[in-house]
Amino acid sequence: MKKIIGTLLLLAALCNAYALPSADSLKPYKEIVPATAVTGKSFITVHQVNNRYLFEIPDSILGRDLFTVNRIIQSPQDWRNPFSGLCSYGNDWIGQSMFRFRRAENNRIMLQVVSTSERTSGNDLSASLERNNTDPLYAIFPVLAKSPEGAWVIDMTDFLNSDNSVFGYMAAIKMLAMPGTFAADRSFLNSVKAFPANIEIASTRSYSAGNTTLTGLYNSSLILLPKEPMKGRLTDERVGFFGIVPTDFRQWNDDGTVKMAANIWRWKLEPRKEDMEKYFRGELVEPEKPIVFYIDPATPKKWVPYLVAGVNDWQAAFEKAGFRNAIFAKEVPEGDTTFDINDARHNVIVYKASAIGNAMGHSLQDPRSGEIIESHIQWYHSVQEILYKWYLTQAGAVDTAAQKPYFSDELMGQLIRFVSSHEVGHAVGLRHNWGASSTTTIAQLRDKKWVEANGHTPSIMDYARFNYVAQPEDSIGEAGLFPRIGDYDKWAVEWGYKLLPPGTAAGAEAPILDKWIVDKLKESKRFRFGIGDDPSAKFPDNQREDMGDDAMEAGKYGIKNLQRIAPQLFNWVQTPGATYNRVEDVYKALVAQYEWYIKHVTANVGGVQFTPLTTSQNGDVYAFFPRSKQRRAVEFLNKELFATPEWLRNRRLYELTTTDFTIVTDLQKRTLKQLMDAKEFDKLREAQISGDADVYQAGDLLNDLYKGIFEELQSGADISPERRALQRAYVSNLLGLLEEYKDKEQDAGSVVKDHAKQVMAACKAVANKTANQGNKLHLGPLAEMLSARLEKPMEMAKQRASQMQ
Ligand SMILES: [Zn+2]
Repeated sequence: MKKIIGTLLLLAALCNAYALPSADSLKPYKEIVPATAVTGKSFITVHQVNNRYLFEIPDSILGRDLFTVNRIIQSPQDWRNPFSGLCSYGNDWIGQSMFRFRRAENNRIMLQVVSTSERTSGNDLSASLERNNTDPLYAIFPVLAKSPEGAWVIDMTDFLNSDNSVFGYMAAIKMLAMPGTFAADRSFLNSVKAFPANIEIASTRSYSAGNTTLTGLYNSSLILLPKEPMKGRLTDERVGFFGIVPTDFRQWNDDGTVKMAANIWRWKLEPRKEDMEKYFRGELVEPEKPIVFYIDPATPKKWVPYLVAGVNDWQAAFEKAGFRNAIFAKEVPEGDTTFDINDARHNVIVYKASAIGNAMGHSLQDPRSGEIIESHIQWYHSVQEILYKWYLTQAGAVDTAAQKPYFSDELMGQLIRFVSSHEVGHAVGLRHNWGASSTTTIAQLRDKKWVEANGHTPSIMDYARFNYVAQPEDSIGEAGLFPRIGDYDKWAVEWGYKLLPPGTAAGAEAPILDKWIVDKLKESKRFRFGIGDDPSAKFPDNQREDMGDDAMEAGKYGIKNLQRIAPQLFNWVQTPGATYNRVEDVYKALVAQYEWYIKHVTANVGGVQFTPLTTSQNGDVYAFFPRSKQRRAVEFLNKELFATPEWLRNRRLYELTTTDFTIVTDLQKRTLKQLMDAKEFDKLREAQISGDADVYQAGDLLNDLYKGIFEELQSGADISPERRALQRAYVSNLLGLLEEYKDKEQDAGSVVKDHAKQVMAACKAVANKTANQGNKLHLGPLAEMLSARLEKPMEMAKQRASQMQ
């Protein structure tokens, strides 16, 4: 007990005051900062004296929120992060931090990291929040001298040169990037440069992992956050913005628990003072500070115009929010040697010589308000490779420009422009809208006039790459094949960026923002935001890589196109003198595309339509898919997947590359397993207990699958090796389900048992009477396997019972 009291006293002492040991007496300023010092002025003045870096911190900066963003600038070629190379290429973000300098007793300056994960906005919990929390102390610096103006001079060298999360890796990123153990003996500061709005710190850091060393060049940008944070706008699940999610004690759920309330990420766009009146009259005005992206000077010249266009395309969206020329890209002026892509003052599309096929729209936000401070879009060179495969497999049957081993610069440029726009969408705060493309009908996707005018998806933030539903006979041009910034994107920017009328009371904001959404969604479903894409795909309308309002119809047309492309692979992709690796790659991409169509349809079984609503709207949040639609999904799978898709067999490719048909048969078995699973039955049961009469049940699913997979039992046709394997997989899944439900009193268990008996009886009957020797040899053992599981235990039980009598 005594010990506890002692600890408490110690804690009390720590909490009450920062009573620190007394510092050495201050030295004269000139002695610490001699005339030979190299000095740079920013919100903090930086002096370089020999190899030491001194920060001169004025009183006005003490207690202010400072922000660092840390990046790796160069790293060894042989060292790339195993997780997709993340956090190991030049300009990759590795961490950020918000902190304050504060004065402590005895001429000390403390560096405290500020957390924003909990907050309150002036209700009766603020005192409690303050009393419960303190900010971690990352460093204490003795004051060496005071400047003639009264600023505090401290030596930051050792802290800047150490492995800490304020100026280096965040803990989570370090675990991901795995650079090894910090090696202080091979680490040093390169430079600390002061600019009016930021301080840039460059360092060389080494890390040891086993007997190898990672030495990288790192950069930290230090900026001063605005004294008054920008006014936040709370996220709403009906419009897809990213948000910083703190626990906000302002917001309460009905049961008194705390709600997570997030501010959306957005740039601070405001009209100039003299334009305010015009803006609120509804006239377009230029923002005081537009969003400007620079193109990395290391970008191959031929792609620059397309990357620029991808940024500028967003201007139309910002016009909906009342701003003209709100966003644009430009090249770094020729001969500008001071430009640095890592500088926190610039937003840059950074081009990386990398074999990774990706691009990322990354931005940094003021944690207090969601204000986007800067954005660096990471562009990996090999994004071109995935663009080639996507466009060839999705639009190759329709657009002759795609029927080539390499696309023309103009076509590839337009594809780059689309990815550029998508990434910029993230950089202005927008999340993926997985549901957008499901608002277009199949008929619209095939209607040349409509789709060329409106685009195949209302959002470029969906993963709805190219209009694969369009058929050659529809004669749809690239305008109807390419995604573009659409109705939803423009609306989302309008909702996030349009200013509320001046003088709007704090309490009046939420109803206005809600009304905007309610009115817009009444206008058209094209403004819908759809979240919920996940591997189990409970919400089939919100899937990635899909399009149209009916996955079965879309898949049918998608497959028709793949069937046109598959026989042409060698003609279109192979170049003289090259190996067959590329054809093999594209073939695999084609099968992967086919797999998407299968997945989209599979998700319809047990599918739920999800529509986030508030009380100001009518309708259902959850609605189960009707029985007829789910039945159509299984019929589709029987026809397009389980009946062997011979068109995907490529014997020539097998002879040249050994890529065989198991890539397809594995997909059959995976899909069958997914459907014949207790989890799938649970989904169906959920619909059943909802009381809806029009439900698809586990028995329906099994019967429908059986009809397709054991079709030969009716027709008497030869059962091919692939089909035999599939039927064996079916029986094996049934046995698995019987085992799963063995000790469970559940309806699904009885349904499975009953179904297994029917399958057993059917296999046995056909095996007994067929003259087809192959079928007999296959079906007989299947019936026996089921019988061993279903009948033998009963026989044994009967025997045991008779022995007891
Ligand atoms: Zn994205």
